[in-house]
Amino acid sequence: MNENQLGDLSYQNMKFLNEESISQFLHCPICKKIFNNPKRLLLCGDTFCEKCLQASRSKKKGGNKCFVCGQSYSQEHIQDDLIPKKIIEDLRVQCTRTKDCQWVGILQEHKIHIQNNECIEQTGQEKQQKK
Ligand SMILES: [Zn+2]
Ligand SMILES: [Zn+2]
Ligand SMILES: [Zn+2]
Repeated sequence: MNENQLGDLSYQNMKFLNEESISQFLHCPICKKIFNNPKRLLLCGDTFCEKCLQASRSKKKGGNKCFVCGQSYSQEHIQDDLIPKKIIEDLRVQCTRTKDCQWVGILQEHKIHIQNNECIEQTGQEKQQKK
C-alpha cells in the first residue's frame, strides 16, 4: 500500500452504504458529510474534516476559533483524530467507478480495489487502456 495515501481519505469512486444510518458523530459539523481526514482540536475535542477546518480558519484572521464552541486554538492544538478515521475506513461502501462494478466492501479495501484496477468495465472501452 502506498503510505502517502494513508493520511488522505478521498471519497472518490464510491458511495457509503446506508449513509443515513451512519452515526452523526462521524459527520463533520461544518459540511455535514462524513469526515474526510478528521482533525481534532485538543482543547475542546471537536472534530472537523481537515479541509473544513482549514476553510473555517482562513475566514478569521484575528485568531482561530472553533466552529462549534468558539474555543480559541492555534496550530499546535490540531491533531489527527484517528478513532473516527479508523471507523470510517471500516464502513461499508459500494464502488461507483464504473457503472458495472458492483463491488461492495469496507472503505479501506476499496482503496486496494481501485489500486488493483479490479473494476468491471463496460463493454464499450472508454478509459480502459491508456498505453
Ligand atoms: Zn467537513
Ligand atoms: Zn470546540
Ligand atoms: Zn470497482
